[in-house]
Amino acid sequence: MNTRRGRSGDALPTGPTNFSQADMEELDARLSGATGFLKQRRHNLRKNEHTGQAAQSAVVTGGKVEIQEPVTIKALSAATGIKANEAMKWLFKKGIMVTINSAIETEAAMEVAMEYDIELVVKEQQTAEEIVEQEFAERELVDERPRPPVVTVLGHVDHGKTSLLDKIRKADVAAHEAGGITQHVGAYRVTVKGGDDQDKTVVFLDTPGHEAFTSMRARGAGMTDLVVLVIAADDGVMPQTIESINHAKAADVPVIVALNKSDLPQATEENVQKIYGQLAEHGLNPVAWGGETEIIKTSAETGDGIQDLLEVLDYQSELLELKADYGGPARGAVIEAEMQTGRGSVARVLVQDGQIKVGDFIVIGRAFGRVRDMTNDRKRSIKDAGPATPLELSGIDVIPDAGDKFYVTQTLQKAESVAQQYRDAERQKMLASRTKVTLDNFAATIKAGQVNQLRVVLKADVQGSMEVLRKSLEELGNDEVSVKVIHSAVGGVTENDVLLADASAAIVIGFHVVATSTVKEIAETRGVDIRLYRIIYDVTDHLTQALEGMLDPETQEEILGQAEVKEVFKIGKLGMIAGCIVTEGTFQKSGKARLQRDGIVVTDDRDIESLRRVKDDAKEVRAGTECGIRLKGFDDLKPGDTIVCYNVKQVKRKLE
Ligand code: GDP
Repeated sequence: MNTRRGRSGDALPTGPTNFSQADMEELDARLSGATGFLKQRRHNLRKNEHTGQAAQSAVVTGGKVEIQEPVTIKALSAATGIKANEAMKWLFKKGIMVTINSAIETEAAMEVAMEYDIELVVKEQQTAEEIVEQEFAERELVDERPRPPVVTVLGHVDHGKTSLLDKIRKADVAAHEAGGITQHVGAYRVTVKGGDDQDKTVVFLDTPGHEAFTSMRARGAGMTDLVVLVIAADDGVMPQTIESINHAKAADVPVIVALNKSDLPQATEENVQKIYGQLAEHGLNPVAWGGETEIIKTSAETGDGIQDLLEVLDYQSELLELKADYGGPARGAVIEAEMQTGRGSVARVLVQDGQIKVGDFIVIGRAFGRVRDMTNDRKRSIKDAGPATPLELSGIDVIPDAGDKFYVTQTLQKAESVAQQYRDAERQKMLASRTKVTLDNFAATIKAGQVNQLRVVLKADVQGSMEVLRKSLEELGNDEVSVKVIHSAVGGVTENDVLLADASAAIVIGFHVVATSTVKEIAETRGVDIRLYRIIYDVTDHLTQALEGMLDPETQEEILGQAEVKEVFKIGKLGMIAGCIVTEGTFQKSGKARLQRDGIVVTDDRDIESLRRVKDDAKEVRAGTECGIRLKGFDDLKPGDTIVCYNVKQVKRKLE
């Protein structure tokens, strides 16, 4: 809902509000601008900030009090000691009617507190997900132990990421007994021989590309502990290599370099040294050069170096001292999710802590449910799983997003309420971000949102004119833009029309009808454009204009004149001047210039810094006349060059 937020004078009791930075700044400005006692109070307030007199209630001592949104009179009173009646009376005087349980605007609450020398610090309400997250963060550890590292392989296309991962999978010592990794679950566990000859497990995230890596991180799921950056030894650092380095740096994840394709003859020592240099330039200083970045030569073709790479991963992960709680309810993150026929929504997740079992209640972003079945990367059905296990699960109601976190909850209700709040927040965000369409901003909306249809809710006084209007409106437009009447009816503009227009990003057009002031108000708060007309021609004319405004204006070049460079000379500090003769049209100082040499454009879109005839500055010089031309910021002039002078016009396109 798009409710208007009240300022102090018209603050209304509302639900939880997010106080924007702008609001806070305004309040601050007003307070610092306040004179007399208010200013004095604020001063006192600051002075008393750290007096620590906590024994008496704030209402007596003043000072700082923290309170959580939503702020009700009751909560305010409990936190500060201000009598509820007093607070209500004060608000009443300001024209704000509240009951003891009403949530009040944060700003209003702060002003009440200010009356008692109390600085109220209003904390935003935690989301249900944050509460669950906090519960998990604060819970007592049951069985904390070292856990395997989670590795993402990044690099430039064709440098061998896929081949390397394939080879690593084949190095899996558990493959033979367990049938090998057969299922795509977005990640897999590989058991390898570590440097100490012990079996070690590494989890490889199979997310293609650094975009996925970063979008997951953006959602809060920092799943990756280590990045393997694959660089083809016969090639070198390429654009996507640099991007990968930057993504890893931004995520603060250590990078291990695999110099792949080292079997190729082109992978010479000279090339390897060149790559070392490129890496050092990007902040990855090789160990061989006294830096910290491990670089391992590998070949996905022959298998050379793969064991070394795995050993370095093992060693690096030990340095990171990765740990997880193997007991308690599970939490983790989504790698991928999709709809599967017969199974419904499935999520491929990585368990990061705790145990997950079939039958557990779970919330994953907007989705919730009860785990119906789980399969591992070997397509085995499993009943439970612990940290660093990638698995696919079903039993959730909708598809979550990659990077969403999941939590196992005590009850289904809890999972549902957390998911519900997530959906509400999503809806709010969607409503807030949806651009409102008006006749005036239609052009901009179209450009930004790639919509190419002006939707209209049409109301008219009689059936006849409604039909005529509907037909003529829908005939406007061409292949690029069109008008669609999504609803038409006889009668005045109603609240329902506005709601429909709001939900469909449409405008409302009324012909020989009116909208009551209530309807107008609703339209205003929702940002719905209502246009009332009395003449059919005006309707079609305005709409045509809106559509035309939205058509990309065409830029047209108008050639004004042309000159030939006869000689070039330097004048003092000014730079190079071309002595020309205007061969065609008129040279205008206000125009733009393009310099051509042998039919090739040497420079374009230059301003003409000076245009002179004999010794005088000229606005324009006609054909057949000699002149001196200086192009702004351009000195590379040669006799025989042609300078074209032109104007650029933006032409609004008309609907055909
Ligand atoms: P990705 O785009 O990074 O996943 O690269 P791919 O794994 O698809 O490999 C691209 C090409 O390089 C394929 O034709 C591979 O066979 C080849 N290739 C990958 N690794 C090696 C290697 O170590 N040596 C050689 N000679 N070729 C390789």
